[in-house]
Amino acid sequence: MATTKRDYYEVLGVARTAPAEEIKKAYRQLALKYHPDKNPGDDEAVRRFKEGAEAYEILSDQEKRARYDRYGHAGVEGAGSQNFRSTDDIMGAFSEIFGEGLFGGMFTQRRRGPRPGQDLLMKLEIPLEDAAKGTSRSLDVNRQELCEDCGGSGARKGTSPVTCDYCRGQGQVVQSRGFFQVATTCPACGGEGKRIVDPCGKCRGVGRVPKVIQLKVDVPPGVDTGMWLQLRNQGEPGDPGAPRGNLRIQIQIQPHRFFERHGNNLYCQVPIGFPQAALGSEIEVPTLEGAERLMVPRGTQSGEVLKLKGRGMPDVNGRGRGDIQVEVVIETPRKLSPRQEELLRELAIIDHEDVSPKRKNFFEKLRDYFTEEADTHDHPAR
Ligand SMILES: [Zn+2]
Ligand SMILES: [Zn+2]
Repeated sequence: MATTKRDYYEVLGVARTAPAEEIKKAYRQLALKYHPDKNPGDDEAVRRFKEGAEAYEILSDQEKRARYDRYGHAGVEGAGSQNFRSTDDIMGAFSEIFGEGLFGGMFTQRRRGPRPGQDLLMKLEIPLEDAAKGTSRSLDVNRQELCEDCGGSGARKGTSPVTCDYCRGQGQVVQSRGFFQVATTCPACGGEGKRIVDPCGKCRGVGRVPKVIQLKVDVPPGVDTGMWLQLRNQGEPGDPGAPRGNLRIQIQIQPHRFFERHGNNLYCQVPIGFPQAALGSEIEVPTLEGAERLMVPRGTQSGEVLKLKGRGMPDVNGRGRGDIQVEVVIETPRKLSPRQEELLRELAIIDHEDVSPKRKNFFEKLRDYFTEEADTHDHPAR
């Protein structure tokens, strides 16, 4: 159900080193091939068309492309690429590449047939625990429904819209400017090709009425922030007879009290005292299934990472589970009781007499460093 993203270069079929001109050309070809008006009713074409637009939006922008090259999809997340609601949005955003008249003929064609509905976009925030187990949610979806009184035509019951006489039902008017013919949307009917003489009382001629409906969405285990779920044909209604758009839901995982998510791994920090680290001890750590005991081996250093294998997030495509990574942070006490102080002072004396090889090495390097420093001061540059 979740959407995994293809590489943008692969989408456009160009090399990673392709110059801007080539990217533009490749996108233009792809957009012409998959334009929904050329592939009516073909959902795959729509998907490819949108995918292409998204890829082009990133790769045609120098800065976004550089970020994508370095960090992949994560680097350009939320860069606007997923905000296209419809074909018209895409055509509008890249009108520079398509030019005015290029799709003119197609627009006319589309205006004549019943238009499918637009996709509806929503966000869904869920806690990490729900993302791990998978969940289902009931959503209040605010969308349009076809008006029951007029069946969506917008014309009063018993009447029907009449063909627009200004554009003769074409939805466009063509004007000649010198050598050029420029097609523009008909100002009289707004491109519909039809006009309503006697509007429906219930929807005031719009043909749609807003309604809040409840829909259930199943969230598969392993989803992550930014992933999209899709409920087909649950978006905005199309013209009478055409399918609804899709409802697309973007997942957002709420911040967790303990865990940071790195892919399918869950990372957390657990503070322990110096004696526990030195002597080794059993500590309590969080897991998705509750608190658990974990053995900290004798001589563990601050910053060392202990793993609970296979206890992280499940893979959204069903490929196993990640790990829990526990970073041990050794804490120095800020306040000491007289007894603690006494013991630590004693330890410090013994510790000083019996310096570890690592520390010895460090102090030797430090001494050398200061000696060299002194040398440079002796011979200042003139
Ligand atoms: Zn109506
Ligand atoms: Zn008209």
